[in-house]
Amino acid sequence: MERLTDISTVKNILSRHGFTFSKVLGQNFLINPSVCPRMAEAAVQGDRVGVLEIGPGIGVLTKELLERAGKVVAVELDKRLLPVLSETLGAYDNLKVVNADVLELDLHKLITDEFGGMDVVVCANLPYYITSPVIMKLLEDKLPIKSITVMVQKEAAVRLCAEPGTRDSSAITVAVRYYCDPELLFHVSSGSFMPAPKVDSAVIQLHLHEPVVQPKNEATFFKVIKGAFAQRRKTVLNSLSSSLSLDKNAVRDILKAAGVEETARAERLTLENFADISNALDDRSK
Ligand code: SAM
Repeated sequence: MERLTDISTVKNILSRHGFTFSKVLGQNFLINPSVCPRMAEAAVQGDRVGVLEIGPGIGVLTKELLERAGKVVAVELDKRLLPVLSETLGAYDNLKVVNADVLELDLHKLITDEFGGMDVVVCANLPYYITSPVIMKLLEDKLPIKSITVMVQKEAAVRLCAEPGTRDSSAITVAVRYYCDPELLFHVSSGSFMPAPKVDSAVIQLHLHEPVVQPKNEATFFKVIKGAFAQRRKTVLNSLSSSLSLDKNAVRDILKAAGVEETARAERLTLENFADISNALDDRSK
């Protein structure tokens, strides 16, 4: 079988299919031979595991997943890559390629239809233009998955793996911690891709668990997180007052009930603080 990390092999396959890279679709294919085996090894633990891959490209990571997993379903938006994948991975009978936009797919249905009875994990070298929406969809849809092992931009990895209450924390940091424990696995230099992006990358793994705090209303909880970070340089009093369109005295009362200093900044707040603010806001609207 062809080596999908060998630059001349990849160029040859792509030129035979008349394929040119699309920047808009975030097409940077992995050519560093050590990265995909490492990712697949971390993602797939046990041979009865089903893997949902997002954006297989020409199948370099897919191949490593297929070697280790019971089944791989790979969702690829660019239909020009379908004949390429038939050529590179046609020998595997545990692969299904779905030509769709992952953000538009009913992933619950896909998982039920394709992976009955298997433990399911997600593994992907994500198209960077949709990193946050994809991760939030995977989490908010409350899919029956064990873990998410993904390559993201280095800066995104820092945000996704930050501890709430620290300087690198942002709205997505807090949302991610609500659903899972994030772990930074390893760094990947930009030269590991063809074409090379401008930024370095990192592989992270999110281990899903039951939410660690129980806000009375999840929608309010996420509204408060987004609102508090909307103007992250402002105090939580000012930021929440403008994002929730509430007057300052009302927000002062809410923060007091939640035991949060009105001069605090969002990046300093913990998950518990956000849950307490959200509950105080709900109690006030009753
Ligand atoms: N997995 C391959 C690799 O590691 O070399 C390719 C990764 S490349 C960074 C991202 C892939 O995601 C591309 O194949 C691109 O066409 C695909 N893609 C982009 N947007 C997508 C979407 N909304 N849904 C599914 N796939 C998408």
